Amino acid sequence: MKPFCFAKDKIISSHEASCHPLDIGLIRGYAIFDFFRTVNYQGLFLEEYLERFTQSAKMAFLPLDFEKEALKEIITTLIEKNDHAKGGIRMLLTGGISPNHFLPAKGDLYIFCEPLQLPSEEKYARGVKLLSVDYVRPIPTIKTTNYTLPCLLSVDWKTAGAEDVLYHHQGVISESSRSNVFIVKDGIISTPKSNILLGITRRHTMELAREVQVRDIALKEVFEADEVFITSTTKRILPITQLDDQEIADGKVGSLTRSLMNQFEAMEKEEVMA
Ligand code: PLP
Repeated sequence: MKPFCFAKDKIISSHEASCHPLDIGLIRGYAIFDFFRTVNYQGLFLEEYLERFTQSAKMAFLPLDFEKEALKEIITTLIEKNDHAKGGIRMLLTGGISPNHFLPAKGDLYIFCEPLQLPSEEKYARGVKLLSVDYVRPIPTIKTTNYTLPCLLSVDWKTAGAEDVLYHHQGVISESSRSNVFIVKDGIISTPKSNILLGITRRHTMELAREVQVRDIALKEVFEADEVFITSTTKRILPITQLDDQEIADGKVGSLTRSLMNQFEAMEKEEVMA
């Protein structure tokens, strides 16, 4: 029964997928994942996501029995069986059942097709608000499933009218809970260098922008920026027009941000036509 997923070693109905409760993915929060979009039945920038997923597994000491080509075959079958023209695909590799309930073991692979809704037109038109939070993600370069703090904070950030958080520590920003961040000042675009996940949308945005300074950025610079935006698979490029209680510049979406948003959409269309 639809939707179908890949679980452990075969394709089954997603409703029947199961994971052992003692998997360290559950008892220690030790697992890796990745997430990409399908457009017109194709995985957008699929190669790059497979590379990051494979690298995350390696860096987390989790054996992955499937080569990239094998993963691609599974994904193609799932897209077909689920008639998944447009949506999200989640690849998850758990930490496994560890003899001492701690050491990374041999986990299970799951691949799910999921519905996906991009932010509303209004959010792209007006921008959204972030809340600053003093935090550095642990092992930020690996795409782990550890989102404990932002899950907890999300209960309150909705009440505060915010879309998400902006992490900073010792006065330096890193990223949002599920996105990378960029600032624009006097026409110069900058993005943080350290303590971030190397986002695939970040990489494409940097290619479109051509010149981007990758450096440590002070939290103060965000408050003083002309434009701020975040980038991610599930948001593309989303303008930030408020941080905490302060509007960014005049509180409107800036022209450079808008131009990059348009360029990103155009690039995405070209990519799926290719
Ligand atoms: N940073 C974090 C912590 C994330 O979880 C994500 C995506 O989930 C990103 C950045 C953005 O990465 P991408 O553009 O590859 O979606």
